[in-house]
Amino acid sequence: MAKHVVTLIPGDGIGPEITTAMRRVVDATGVDIEWEIADAGEHVMAEYGTPLPEHVIEACRRNKVAIKGPVTTPVGTGFRSVNVALRKELDLYVNLRPAFSIPGTGARYEDIDIVIVRENTEDLYAGIEFEEGAPETAELIKFCAEKGAGIIRPDSGISLKPISITGSERIVRYAFEYALANGRKKVTAVHKANILKYSDGLYLDVARKVAAEYEGRVEFEDRIVDMTCMGLVLYPEQFDVVVLPNLYGDIVSDLAAGLIGGLGMAPGANIGTDCAVFEPVHGSAPKYTGKDMANPTAEILTAVLMLKHLGEFEAAEKILSGVKAVLAEGVNVTYDIKRTNTGSTDGAVGTQAYADAIIATF
Ligand code: NAP
Repeated sequence: MAKHVVTLIPGDGIGPEITTAMRRVVDATGVDIEWEIADAGEHVMAEYGTPLPEHVIEACRRNKVAIKGPVTTPVGTGFRSVNVALRKELDLYVNLRPAFSIPGTGARYEDIDIVIVRENTEDLYAGIEFEEGAPETAELIKFCAEKGAGIIRPDSGISLKPISITGSERIVRYAFEYALANGRKKVTAVHKANILKYSDGLYLDVARKVAAEYEGRVEFEDRIVDMTCMGLVLYPEQFDVVVLPNLYGDIVSDLAAGLIGGLGMAPGANIGTDCAVFEPVHGSAPKYTGKDMANPTAEILTAVLMLKHLGEFEAAEKILSGVKAVLAEGVNVTYDIKRTNTGSTDGAVGTQAYADAIIATF
């Protein structure tokens, strides 16, 4: 039996290509992993009647560690995001998104080292929505008017933003514990508490209480989300560990990906109490499907996070060094890296050739 059994969800769009590249790189380190393939997404709907079959969730639960490629969420079809559903089903309350510079990407900044800790289960992503014109939406609108909460136009659709003490406490505590365990100096809690008093206001109150427990060990500050975005662009060196509610976390982590050279470079992990599902920040980039063009670095760096989680530090280091060497050389790199470095995609190599170049460094 292999030392580790890992559930692999290839996803769709560029998912199968970049997860193949990732798997080849991980296997080439010699680490003993058995991959248990589990398919999810629109392409399994016909067979299982759902894009996220129960056996996929079960496989993640059983193996406790999964890695996935992106899964497309069709817009405006009533089809719920597989990614959001998986995070909810497995209570993966942390979305960890480290953004660190690697020379050779052509990124606008050179010394970025920021860790985004995004809450993953609540907020506007809780999936509690009321469709425009539905009877329950009319009821909710009436309720709000009767209780003096406010007048909502009758032709509105409504999405709820629940933020709890429980959800806020565990995510902020995770950020502080992560900071302590990883030698980080500061945690910044991001919010819009000046406007959203009962949701973000609650989050900020809880963050301040948790921060008090870490006083003298980890520095704490809070910032409003709009100022945070400007700050990240103007003086990113002021940020260390940044903890945010779900929606701001999603947006700000794409901003952070932009600081390190784009979505092709940004890894991620969804972590819960019993289980972890590793996935890059980016989506399925459908226009590149099957073209062997997409940059697999984010997926490969996601595997580096997974290997560290599994205690396979040597294999993780080998891959990271390989990625750094190939990017520094700048020859065998994908179209996006060529584009940021030279303004043209001429001379770019494909997804699998880039993986081969990393493997050749081992
Ligand atoms: P996206 O798939 O992240 O792609 C947006 C753009 O980012 C691409 O067109 C490409 O830019 C660049 N990019 C993303 N991944 C790249 C890679 N590996 N290598 C090089 N460039 C990359 O965002 P989207 O088009 O908004 O979303 C597509 C679908 O993915 C949607 O259905 C969305 O819901 C889903 N999604 C899934 C996840 C997930 O599975 N966790 C996460 C986010 C989105 P250029 O065209 O400029 O090269």
